[in-house]
Order: sequence, then structure tokens, then C-alpha cells
Amino acid sequence: MAICRLKRVAADNKSDVRDRMPQAGKSNGKKVALIGGGPASLTVARDLAPLGYEIHLFDEWSKAGGMMRTQIPNFRLPESVLDEEVGFVTAMGIHTHFNHRVTSMKEVLSVGYDAVFVGTGAPKGRDLNLPGRSEASANVHIGVEFLANVAFGHTTKIGERVIILGGGNTAMDCCRTSRRLGGKDVRVIVRSPFSDMKASPWEIEDAKAEDIPILNNMPPKSFVVENGKLKGMIFEKVKAVYDEKGKRSLVSTGEPDEFVEADDVIIAVGQDNAFPWIERDLGIEFGNWELPKLNETTFQSTLPHVFFGGDAALGPKNIITSVAHGHQAAISIDLFLSGKDLMNDRPAPMTNLIHQKMGIHEWSYDSAVVNDLRFKVPHQKKELALKDLNTEVELGFSKETAFKEAQRCLNCDVQTVFTPNLCIECDACMDICPTACITFTANGEEEDLRNRLSVPAENKSQDLYVSEELKTTRVMVKDEDVCLHCGLCAERCPTSAWDMKKYMYSVTKASTIL
Ligand SMILES: Cc1cc2nc3c(=O)[nH]c(=O)nc-3n(C[C@H](O)[C@H](O)[C@H](O)COP(=O)(O)OP(=O)(O)OC[C@H]3O[C@@H](n4cnc5c(N)ncnc54)[C@H](O)[C@@H]3O)c2cc1C
Ligand code: SF4
Ligand code: SF4
Repeated sequence: MAICRLKRVAADNKSDVRDRMPQAGKSNGKKVALIGGGPASLTVARDLAPLGYEIHLFDEWSKAGGMMRTQIPNFRLPESVLDEEVGFVTAMGIHTHFNHRVTSMKEVLSVGYDAVFVGTGAPKGRDLNLPGRSEASANVHIGVEFLANVAFGHTTKIGERVIILGGGNTAMDCCRTSRRLGGKDVRVIVRSPFSDMKASPWEIEDAKAEDIPILNNMPPKSFVVENGKLKGMIFEKVKAVYDEKGKRSLVSTGEPDEFVEADDVIIAVGQDNAFPWIERDLGIEFGNWELPKLNETTFQSTLPHVFFGGDAALGPKNIITSVAHGHQAAISIDLFLSGKDLMNDRPAPMTNLIHQKMGIHEWSYDSAVVNDLRFKVPHQKKELALKDLNTEVELGFSKETAFKEAQRCLNCDVQTVFTPNLCIECDACMDICPTACITFTANGEEEDLRNRLSVPAENKSQDLYVSEELKTTRVMVKDEDVCLHCGLCAERCPTSAWDMKKYMYSVTKASTIL
């Protein structure tokens, strides 16, 4: 189900929600510095301000948002949406220090903050040091820097023929941005096979829909420069070969190298962390890939009152991971500043199971299974979308389509819950189950049990549900992988040994701990 698109419909149709947002709490006298204003730091601010912490947020740019503002293009994430969302946090009495690049952690620590959170992201775009790189430098751009320059209006045009090197989401944003800046012949060239591309399938689809070809199995060899001007690039032709352990090597196909003309080249082959501003004698230790040594549950560094989160903690990931880190780091900071143990006193997330029966044949959820495919989100017409950088491409579901899309939900949150001592082993549930996922049989080792079920359970990544021993010494075994959550077993069961219960999971947040 298109969860992200359904959340968008809810947001598109909301009224004024400001009074439902967390509010700053009464001062507790403690000060926390957040370095970087991306989603990780904003989450820490949102969770700690209600507890009365004085929050100081530093970012080198003039507004908060991090890469959501500086790298993700407006045609995918409109600035107005970002301003509103970020504004909910900054309106909580946060002390913002914008246009302030932090150049020394020593200086930050000397101010005497009770805790410091580092949410500076993974800002260093990787370069490719190939022959001709320095001679061609006027027309060679690093992907993340190029996108930031576009976001701030420093770059407003590009050549007609553009090569994008790389197969991740940054490459997709660079090629689509180039189309809007005047690029007519924009090509993405990937060194490995399509199947190894890191970009999300929908990002690739959107790029292709904007007439951007993606060429694969072509590692770049050199930049071609004539009279000081970039003319294009030379690529090798390779194929992927895998050894018996599945390790990939790219080997030449023997075909001649290919020259591809270009006015500009954008290198989008990955990002690295960079902490030149953290002095190495402060007690903050770094490990592989220049990443800080952290406890990955608490996000505490080797200097106890310094915490990391988001891309700065474990390397580049995505927004929701940064938010998750922010929630966990905020809990840790609050425990730390309350003199508690960061692991042993860590609160568990809220979970519960709620009975869904409303009558013998009635559930509080729609259990009909439909074969509808995912509904397509309407897109802006290509001619209009390519005209400028700010025209949003995805237009969002209408309320009606959103309703139909929501009806596709398979209710995986509704669990079949079995109570062994109520079961009289009549086998009625086994008979009625449309996918034959319930079996009553003698217990045994997992491998053996999997093969003795009514239908063998082949997906080994999905645990079997095995009950305790029943009166006849058999056990109930359920293959969760094929359950449709239709509720027929619970409807049919004469003793209510089966029940359908909705599972709730709520991530703990520092501000919800009482
Ligand atoms: C092109 C591109 C497209 C992406 N698209 C998506 C997407 O569609 N969906 C998704 O979920 N994720 C996407 N991501 C990834 C996502 O943007 C990041 O994972 C996320 O923003 C990381 O959040 P963060 O809070 O860790 O840091 P960031 O968002 O990187 O924010 C860090 C902030 O700290 C500032 N900063 C750094 N050093 C200093 C300093 N010394 N002093 C002051 N300020 C500093 C930076 O300028 C930045 O504003 C994309 C990334 C890129 C590059
Ligand atoms: S919910 Fe439906 S599919 Fe799942 S075990 Fe019960 S009868 Fe079978
Ligand atoms: S229908 Fe109910 S009582 Fe009968 S075997 Fe299934 S769980 Fe047990």
C-alpha cells in the first residue's frame, strides 16, 4: 500500500494543527546544543523542548531543514511544505543560530552546554580522480554541491549535453534538475548493471519519464578536454561476473571504449562523513570510514555528554532513519541529564493488542481481500513540470483515490491470537482457512515441522507460530507468511480460541516519558 502517499493526503487535507503540536515546557535549567539543522537535530529539539531544555540549534545555512532543503529538489519537496513542518519545531522557543558554521568542537564544549548533539549529516560528495579531471574542472560538478548551488540560486543553468555519473538517488535528482536548467541531452551513466543501481525504482521511473536514458555497465575512464574545454568522457564497456561466493567483478567485454559528448559532467557517486571541525584530542573517538565510535542504541559517543544522530552517526541513510536516531538520542540525553542509566533505564516502546470482534461475523476492520493494484499518483504534465525547478511533479491522491488505496490494506497489524486452553481440537479452523496456513500436528524440529504442514512453509525468513502442547499432545502450527488476516478462523471457532487483535506499536519519545 502507498503509505507515504496516504500520509500526504492526510497532510494535504489537514486544518490548522498548530495547537496539537508539542509545546515548550517550563525551563529545567539545562542547555543542549544541536550542531546541524537537519531532520535528526530537529527531532531532538522537538522531543527535548517540551521537557524544559534550552535548545541551541546551529546551522551553516539561513534556515533549518538540512538536506531536505539544500539537496532534495523543490519539484519533489516544495519549500512551503518544508517551511511549515520545520516551523512547528522552531516555533517551540528554540534558540536558532543560522548562518553559523561550527568550526571547532572545542569551542562548543567550552560554552558549558550540558549535552551536545551532532547532526551534521554526511556532507562530503565523493569525487572521481580520473585523467583530465583538473583540466575539465570548470564543467565538472559534485552532485550534492551542485544541488545545493541550485537550491540557493547560485547555479541557474547547465549545458545542453550533460552526463551524470552514478546510480543512486542523488544521481536521479541531479539528472532531473539538469533537465530543468536547460539540459536537453541528459544521460545517467552507471558503471555496473541496472540490477545493482541503488536508486529507488520509483526515482528511476520518474527520471526515465523525463526522457533521461540510463546506460549501464560503463565505468568512466577519463575526461576529454580540447583547448581547455570539456568535450566529453570515455567509458569502458564491461559486464558483471559473479564468483561462487556471489562477489561481483566488472570485466571488460572486449568492445572498444565509448566516447560520450558532454558540456557538463555531474559526479554523484556517493557521500562521506566529514568532521574536520572536531578536534581529535577531546575524547571523541572515530572508527572506520571516519565515523564516530558510538553505542548504536543510545547514540552516545566516547565523550559521555556528546551524542550523534542521523547521517553523521552511522553514514548516509534517509530522513526517517535520521528522525528515528533523533528520538533515541533525545531519550539518551534526557536520561543522561537526569542521572539515569542510558541502557538499563531506557523505556520500552508502547505495544498492545486490542480485540477486534464486533459480532459473530463482524470485525472493526474491512477484511475483504481485493486484487486491485496500487493506484497511480497523478503527475504534473511533463511540459509544465520541466519548465521550472519549483513545479511539483507529484500531485497527490484525491480523497476518493486515497480511500480506494487505503482499502487495499491487508490488515497485517491485525494478528491472529491463539489461546491453547480454549481449543477443543475440532479442526474447524483448519478446514475453513482459505490458505491452509493452520495445521494441527505433532511437534518437532523446525525443518521437519515446516515440511509436515498442510502446505509446506518455504519462506524461512518468516517464523512459524507454534502453540504449546494441546490435550491430544499435538500443537497448532501456523504459517504466518500466507495468512490473509481474513478472520475466518476466528469466526468459525466455536470456543473463541482464535481471536483477531489489532497490534499497536508506538516509538517511545523523550517527551512522552512521564
Ligand atoms: C540528493 C539527495 C536526495 C535525497 N532524497 C531523499 C528522499 O527522497 N527521501 C529520504 O528519506 N532521504 C533522502 N535523502 C537523504 C536525506 O536527505 C538525509 O539522509 C537526511 O537529510 C539526513 O539528515 P541529518 O539530520 O542527519 O543531516 P542533514 O539533513 O544532512 O543536515 C545536516 C545539516 O547540518 C549542517 N552542517 C554540517 N556541518 C555543519 C557545521 N560544522 N556547522 C553548522 N552546520 C553544519 C548542514 O549544512 C546541514 O544543513 C537524499 C539525500 C540527497 C543527497
Ligand atoms: S485469518 Fe484467515 S488466512 Fe489467516 S489463519 Fe485465519 S482463516 Fe487462515
Ligand atoms: S476451530 Fe477453534 S477449537 Fe476448533 S481447532 Fe480451531 S482453534 Fe481449536
